[in-house]
This record gives sequence, C-alpha cells and structure tokens, in this order.
Amino acid sequence: MIIYMYHSLTHETTSNSSFVVTKQKFEKQINYIKKRYKIVSIVDIEKYIHEKDVAILTFDDGYLDNYSIAYQYLKQFNIPFTIFLSTKFIENSMVLGCNELPFLSWDMIYEMHNSNLVYFASHTHSHLNCKEHSCKDIIEDIDKNIEQIESHLGYKPKYFCYPKGKVNNTIFQYLHKNFDFCFKGNGVVPKEFDKLKIPRIELHEKMPNFKLTVSYNRLKNRLFQ
Ligand SMILES: [Zn+2]
Repeated sequence: MIIYMYHSLTHETTSNSSFVVTKQKFEKQINYIKKRYKIVSIVDIEKYIHEKDVAILTFDDGYLDNYSIAYQYLKQFNIPFTIFLSTKFIENSMVLGCNELPFLSWDMIYEMHNSNLVYFASHTHSHLNCKEHSCKDIIEDIDKNIEQIESHLGYKPKYFCYPKGKVNNTIFQYLHKNFDFCFKGNGVVPKEFDKLKIPRIELHEKMPNFKLTVSYNRLKNRLFQ
C-alpha cells in the first residue's frame, strides 16, 4: 500500500509553494494514480495494507480548497480521501509556508462527512509543534481535537497524523491508547510496519517529479512489500 499526502490546492495556474498544487496538476495526478492504483478509504487500511496496488489519499490540516477543489473533483469518481484536521483553524485561516490559507467551515465538513467519501482524522487542535511544546500541552491539545471531531461528527477519530517535530515515548503511549494508526512522512509502508509510524509520500506540483515519485515508490512498494 502507498499513502499519498497533499496539503493545499489552488485555482491559480502556478504554485509558489511546495505545499500547494494547482487544480490542473492535481486532476492530472489523480488520473495518473487512479489508473495505477485502487484508491481506498483509510477505514479499510488494515484490509489492504499488504496489497501492492492500493493507495490512500490524505490531506493535512484542513484547507478550504480540500472542499472547493479536491472534494468537487474526487466525488465525481467516488474516490474516498482523508483530511487530518486541525480543528482550531476551522472557519479561520492557517499559515502554511509563506501563505495564509483559508480553512474549511463546519458546513463544508458536514457535507463531506455525510457523503461518506471523506474521513476526518486527528491532527491536534492547534497544530502544535512537538519540538516546542511539552507532552502535557500536546496531549491536552490532541484531546481537544478528538472532542471537537466527536461533538461535531459523532465519532472518535481512529487515525492521527503528527504535526512537525519528534514525538517522545509519553506521547507514543498516549497515541497507542487512543488511535489505531498514526501517520507521518516519508516513504512506502514496509512489510514490517509500526502502526504508530505509518509512512506517506508527499506529492508536489511539478509533473516530472510527481511521475518519478509515483514510479519510484511503486517499484519500491512492489519489491519490498
Ligand atoms: Zn499539518
């Protein structure tokens, strides 16, 4: 299995950030991926984790373009995806690289959730950096994130994605108790995987890089899974 990661998409024709992919390229990339992989929902991760030609699509943070671009496109093909949501920024904005980007609203989140195509998972409430905050602060912040998702969507998220920074053992123990799988960057899912450190592949704007990334990791996946 391969898990792909995006952050933000844009209607502009060029992107000034490695975190932002243009709508045009995103659609090309999805077509490229869907020809080569069966794209499944994160809720089926356990069933497919050892399969070679299966992929999961994820978006980090919760930018408005995940609704206005990704969802509008992916729903046409019934392609499921996951948004790792930092709940503090909902109906506001968050700084990503050198851009301040608008965030999803709860109404958009409800609509996507009700479509059954989109799973909202945990990414801490305030997008805390594990380097700069204490374990206590981080655990409280994850709890707040779980509470918000549960009170709005009616379930406790089973999946978590780390914001930047290294995680220590106290946090690992907490995550182990509260989540089925935790995700990070970078790599393909190895044969012997750690449920708390599932690697993903970040996809970028430039198409030659994208094709190289997809082909290289597909090969790696075929050889090592
Ligand atoms: Zn993030």
